[in-house]
Amino acid sequence: MMPKPPVCRTDHNSWPEWPRVLKTDYGQEEAMSQFGCDPRIYQTTATEFCKDKDGQVCGVKTVQLEAGTFKPIPGTEQVLKADLVLIAAGFLGSQKYLTDAFGVKLTKRTTIETGDDYKTSKEHVFAAGDVRRGQSLVVWAIAEGRAVAKAVDESLMGYTNL
Ligand SMILES: Cc1cc2nc3c(=O)[nH]c(=O)nc-3n(C[C@H](O)[C@H](O)[C@H](O)COP(=O)(O)OP(=O)(O)OC[C@H]3O[C@@H](n4cnc5c(N)ncnc54)[C@H](O)[C@@H]3O)c2cc1C
Repeated sequence: MMPKPPVCRTDHNSWPEWPRVLKTDYGQEEAMSQFGCDPRIYQTTATEFCKDKDGQVCGVKTVQLEAGTFKPIPGTEQVLKADLVLIAAGFLGSQKYLTDAFGVKLTKRTTIETGDDYKTSKEHVFAAGDVRRGQSLVVWAIAEGRAVAKAVDESLMGYTNL
């Protein structure tokens, strides 16, 4: 949906900010050499998946978007052939059915709200890892797993040796 990033830093993105420039990974390079073009399509969104007579996916309808407003540009619709569709939409917070089931309070980013003690708004319910801190790293998941075990032990026993 976003425009193609510039090859070099712009004046609004000088060092030491993270460089918001075009990056091409080896997988993309391989696709370019195999198929002759960049597999990435910018300023475009999928509007519909198409199916064949057997109900199998056979294409995806797309439309180009106006830069900045993300409004569809009429007349730019096209259908790309597809045998398989993988949706990689990123981390969108905790799953609602789960947090509803526990009745825990959420943050604005729909992660589970806790204090430093990993306690949620619901007594005896603790949260740790991505569901608490948002999309993160394995090292954080391990560290929070250990820390929450300690917090649970302390809550149950009144002390902890962990
Ligand atoms: C594509 C991708 C690539 C990544 N690459 C890296 C990387 O290179 N390096 C890195 O450090 N991190 C990476 N991460 C992030 C890392 O995987 C996460 O930060 C980490 O796994 C979070 O651990 P977690 O235990 O908090 O959550 P999760 O690993 O998500 O574990 C949650 C578990 O809860 C289970 N669950 C959910 N609902 C229920 C339910 N109702 N009942 C029972 N079980 C349930 C799930 O099945 C899952 O097993 C990547 C993440 C993704 C998605």
